[in-house]
Amino acid sequence: MSEQCIFCKISAGTIPAKRIYEDDDVLAFADIAPQAPVHVLVIPRRHIPSLDGLTEADRGLAGHLLERVAHIARLLGVAEAGYRTIINTHDDGGQEVYHIHVHLLAGKRIGPMVARA
Ligand code: AMP
Repeated sequence: MSEQCIFCKISAGTIPAKRIYEDDDVLAFADIAPQAPVHVLVIPRRHIPSLDGLTEADRGLAGHLLERVAHIARLLGVAEAGYRTIINTHDDGGQEVYHIHVHLLAGKRIGPMVARA
């Protein structure tokens, strides 16, 4: 846990969020500024600042995170229609919160490229 990290605080329950799914290692919650009818953020509970911070030791967690994203899409009933997943990394990738997270966007036809400017 990083003391300053907003997503660590959401994971710990000290900042509120609309929680969609959780287990010991992963949490999913609604994005506060949704860019689509369904916009969920899926995070590992452990503080990893970005995709660039992943190491070989994180392979299990990274696999679990991605598998849970697919599970959550099915849970939300959007898997068949389809969805967009995005991981923004560092400044040029548009990353604002430095706790690795997967955006899960669905509920409308999302254009051919990245959904957010
Ligand atoms: P990124 O630009 O990939 O770092 O995305 C960060 C996302 O976190 C943005 O889509 C924000 O709307 C979202 N966000 C920031 N603070 C909160 C919060 N307290 N609860 C839910 N989502 C948040």
